[in-house]
Amino acid sequence: MNDEQFRDILYRQDLDRELIKVLLAAEGSQMEMLLRRALEVKLEHMDNYVHLRGLIEYGNVCEKNCLYCGLRRGNGKVARYCLSDDEVLSCARLAHDLGYGSVALQSGERSDPEFIAKIEYLVREIKKIDGGSLGITLSLGEQTEDTYCRWFDAGAHRYLLRIESSDEELYYRIHPRDAKHSFRTRVDCLEALKRTGYQTGTGVMVGLPSQTLDHLAGDLLFFRDMDVAMVGLGPYIPHPDTPLYRFKGAIPSAKERMDMTLKMIAVLRLMMPEINMVAATANQTIDPQGREKAIQAGANVIMPNLTPGEYRESYFIYPDKACVKDMPDHCQTCLDIRLAAIGHRIQYNAWGDSPAFTKKTKK
Ligand code: SAM
Ligand code: SF4
Repeated sequence: MNDEQFRDILYRQDLDRELIKVLLAAEGSQMEMLLRRALEVKLEHMDNYVHLRGLIEYGNVCEKNCLYCGLRRGNGKVARYCLSDDEVLSCARLAHDLGYGSVALQSGERSDPEFIAKIEYLVREIKKIDGGSLGITLSLGEQTEDTYCRWFDAGAHRYLLRIESSDEELYYRIHPRDAKHSFRTRVDCLEALKRTGYQTGTGVMVGLPSQTLDHLAGDLLFFRDMDVAMVGLGPYIPHPDTPLYRFKGAIPSAKERMDMTLKMIAVLRLMMPEINMVAATANQTIDPQGREKAIQAGANVIMPNLTPGEYRESYFIYPDKACVKDMPDHCQTCLDIRLAAIGHRIQYNAWGDSPAFTKKTKK
């Protein structure tokens, strides 16, 4: 395909599976054209602001056994922890004092009543800081609709639950095929989150064993069909203490996973110009410039880690996680400088909701 034909696709409003695959297959100068167009669309719709979510990794106890994740129940090498109330609330206060505007509470999946009540309590306490000035995103896995409602009523308003892969067959290649890891339940949870009123986010890992362009195009169509408000996309990073690690030799190189992640972000920005998109830490883990590249390809959210230093090494979803040793104030200066260098600026003291969601709820 010549550059002119390729450029035409970049301006199409109605990208279908075949056209998406053409864009995802782009290389060299055509890949550059795609990334440039996505940046243009983002700046047109969202300006050059980057929103922050101070990430609090609440605990690494997990009931699940996802085949790719270092926190899986079956990994006996992990020192399990759970932050105290004081630790969570000081992280939230720090996020407020640094002007982050929002926090994201993430953890392994638990569904015991103590956990559910504790999260409800913590969300209410975070909401008391400075008269409710902090936005709250949760990423705590699959729960009942009743639990989602309790946490929403307590004050959380965004929820991230990645579908991991929207292709049911591939989903079961990266999860055990049992009731605890049901694809149907995951989709139902996303529907329940939307019904509850959350700005609902989902996402996938890029570069999984046996993942094809067709799978990835299907993922982007899934996001559009689900009409989600946020997406978090990142490269898959093999973890040696997980079952999926044995397929390590059969996945694309780190550069290929990074490039494909950037193309996924860019194509999605063309398809959904006003959603929030996270530049995942996994990008920076496989490429020192990965987060900035994701921002330049169309992402607009960064999640600096606020988890107390002594716990960070125990939240090893994948090896060599970026910023594990960074301290929040250092992280902030480093982010300000890195973003200014690529023509972006942080929007401090704001929730940074997705315009796609805000417009819909105002209708
Ligand atoms: N337990 C919650 C859940 O699964 O939604 C939240 C925490 S989980 C660690 C957050 C995300 O980490 C998952 O959605 C998954 O996509 C990502 N993740 C886990 N293992 C990974 C790996 N090896 N490489 C890249 N991302 C990974
Ligand atoms: Fe648990 Fe989430 Fe990791 Fe799955 S991805 S093992 S649910 S922490």
